[in-house]
Amino acid sequence: MKIIRTVEEWKKERETFKNKKIGFVPTMGGLHAGHLSLMKKCRAENEIAVASVYLNPTQFNDKKDLETYPANFDDDVKLLESAGIDYLFAPTYTVMYPDDYKYKVIETDFSKMLCGAKRPGHFDGVLTVVMKFFNIIRPTNAYFGEKDFQQYQLLKGMVEAFFLDINLIPCPIVREENGLAISSRNRKLSAEGLAKAPKLHEILAMKKSIAEKEALLTEAGFKVDYITEYKGRLYAAAFLEDVRLIDNVNA
Ligand code: AMP
Repeated sequence: MKIIRTVEEWKKERETFKNKKIGFVPTMGGLHAGHLSLMKKCRAENEIAVASVYLNPTQFNDKKDLETYPANFDDDVKLLESAGIDYLFAPTYTVMYPDDYKYKVIETDFSKMLCGAKRPGHFDGVLTVVMKFFNIIRPTNAYFGEKDFQQYQLLKGMVEAFFLDINLIPCPIVREENGLAISSRNRKLSAEGLAKAPKLHEILAMKKSIAEKEALLTEAGFKVDYITEYKGRLYAAAFLEDVRLIDNVNA
């Protein structure tokens, strides 16, 4: 696997591909089995498989969350190599934001709901950085997890709104055996927190009202940020030990 740090380096590589099919998986690092499933699909469906590891500061509304985000670059490299990824794009802030984030992609409707209502500016950061990645990498196919279902929907809307010639491929949520959606942030939980965390999915999937689910989660020690049904899907975010966990299920 080649590690690419700048846009210029990547452009040189890309010129050698001719019309090969490029698959792309953007990540923020701290890679785990959830990411691995996207990498494997990307590897299987494309001639050139590209991943990015970039902890994008513009999508963090909470500075502490950014500073404590669990990531280990060497471990990430090993996982990507094991998945057969050809190129890892790992830029710096200056590479990604030569404009210092003066230019943004903003969606004005769905991005203000659910996680967007609780994390102001979050989806502006996500849409902007993914637009930049798409313009740099120029993938044929790009892979996103349904764990971040709202993010996937917003990216799909962006691709349509700006006529981007890229196929977005949604990938199912990878869970622990106990139902917990695998997430880099799970690593921030204590052993006790990790034992409680599966309750989020367990309670969300119950045949009960939203108010009952909120009460059960609160009883179990979560601080519920929101539980909302929207277009046939039930979305939730809840804090456990100050770690913000998200999940979603078919409503
Ligand atoms: P992140 O590094 O958290 O930005 O995630 C990078 C990509 O991996 C996003 O498209 C996520 O939705 C996806 N992803 C993260 N965790 C999971 C999971 N447990 N199952 C499926 N996809 C995931």
